[in-house]
Amino acid sequence: MPRSGLTNSNHDPAELAKFSQLAHRWWDPESEFKPLHDLNPLRLKWIEGWTPLKDKRVLDVGCGGGILSESMALQGAQVDGIDLAEKPLGVARLHSLETGIAVNYEAIAVETLAQRQPAAYDVVTCMEMLEHVPDPESIIRACASLVKPGGMVFFSTLNRTLKSYLMAIIGAEYVLRLLPRGTHDHGRFIKPSELSRWARAAGLQICDLQGVHYHPLVRRFHVARGADVNYLLCCQLP
Ligand code: SAH
Repeated sequence: MPRSGLTNSNHDPAELAKFSQLAHRWWDPESEFKPLHDLNPLRLKWIEGWTPLKDKRVLDVGCGGGILSESMALQGAQVDGIDLAEKPLGVARLHSLETGIAVNYEAIAVETLAQRQPAAYDVVTCMEMLEHVPDPESIIRACASLVKPGGMVFFSTLNRTLKSYLMAIIGAEYVLRLLPRGTHDHGRFIKPSELSRWARAAGLQICDLQGVHYHPLVRRFHVARGADVNYLLCCQLP
């Protein structure tokens, strides 16, 4: 399993290609990216509850088309967004030009950025991305080295449970068709215990674990206890 950020090899080309193929629809709230649009106000509010973003230096890892990046910049943060898929980054740059919400986008591996500018950020976010990479622990380590002491790191991903298989794969990809088939690989989903263990091994303290629940009938997300499908993890570097 690739571990070195220097070799820039901790990515799955097939995963990046999936996101590139759909990139032109990133900002269409009725597209395959609807779940990210629906999730965004909720995760932004949760982040702001932990740390006000105004005037903060923020890094958004695996930013894609920039839904979260732009929304954090709109709160007054100075945001850098990084991703390894070129097309979503192209869409993100164009969208930022259209809206006038400035975000600095770059195609660079998080491990490489961590070598270039350690301890540079007040806040690091890495959302809905860890379940698409071969070695998520390496991403977590890099996120931890990019944040300043006292800074916060926010992750979100999918738990590896029977319920997440039924909801996120069978439900979302086959029944409701919210996501294209093959979007997610259940084997890559991450248990909160694993994510917490990797975060602690990287020197982070766990502040909060929240479940994110989806109501198929009203098609809405909300934050609640019970992290058996989608969840958010908030960490701080002491
Ligand atoms: N974080 C964004 C986008 C989530 S989609 C949001 O929540 O709104 C997952 C993103 O992770 C895609 O843009 C994909 O290109 C990116 N990604 C996958 N593997 C990556 C890697 N190894 N390094 C950086 N980005 C990666």
